[in-house]
Amino acid sequence: MSVYGNAEQLTSLISRIIAPNPGPMTGDGTNTYLVGQRELAVIDPGPAIPEHIDALLKSGQQRIRWILCTHTHPDHSPGAALLKEETGAKVVGAFANDGLHQDVSFSPDLEISDDEIIHGDGWDLRAIWTPGHVSNHYCYLLEQEGIIFAGDHIMNGSTVVIVPPGGDMADYINSLRRLLDYDIRQIAPGHGDLIANCKEEVDKLVAHRLGREKKVLAGLEKISPADLDELVLIVYSDVDSSLHEWAKLSMTAHLIKLEREGHVFKDKKDRWIFKR
Ligand SMILES: [Zn+2]
Repeated sequence: MSVYGNAEQLTSLISRIIAPNPGPMTGDGTNTYLVGQRELAVIDPGPAIPEHIDALLKSGQQRIRWILCTHTHPDHSPGAALLKEETGAKVVGAFANDGLHQDVSFSPDLEISDDEIIHGDGWDLRAIWTPGHVSNHYCYLLEQEGIIFAGDHIMNGSTVVIVPPGGDMADYINSLRRLLDYDIRQIAPGHGDLIANCKEEVDKLVAHRLGREKKVLAGLEKISPADLDELVLIVYSDVDSSLHEWAKLSMTAHLIKLEREGHVFKDKKDRWIFKR
């Protein structure tokens, strides 16, 4: 367990400082990564916690030139403005597109697009658009080391929640598969430790989601018509009931995918129906 405020060297180009925002959805806290040697990029500065920003400044020693955000959830991007104020670094990412759950104050100097590369001094970070967790999510691939900064696309130790309408299960599964097109050796998640084998992890996650989708369909076939409260008990019987409110969000994302594919529909009372 690493101590907040301390930079931990992970590879020759990457170090990590964990933000002090532990919780059920954030694990030990948000991972903020520093990339580079003479010129640094900070990836996901985390929430605007002054002690955390101070730790980044101390570790960065006036070398921070870029601030990259994977997405605009409140545990990832709000620190960007504060860090920019102190460093003059260029903020890179995509604007918030959901005012309800996102950091609408996020205002990038460079709005990133798919496959765009940020070139630093001895490193290149390629942006890969990975909608699913939210539609404005990007991963960044450090090409020199084959390590991808995955934000909340892939976490270590907890399951990514897909919250519609910003979150989309079909997009999510496609975005997971998309990572296999790149030469990626390790995953640096937004929460939790490095994951060693990208292909194995992606295959596991896709299988897990498709397995859950099967359970949604089989569960609904049994008790259709059903509302979310009824269905979650069957589909997530293996998950602690304290997590069922979160599970209902991801289950809704599965149902929307299945609806689009013509397997289920909703009646006027918002109950889900299995299409026979
Ligand atoms: Zn997130």
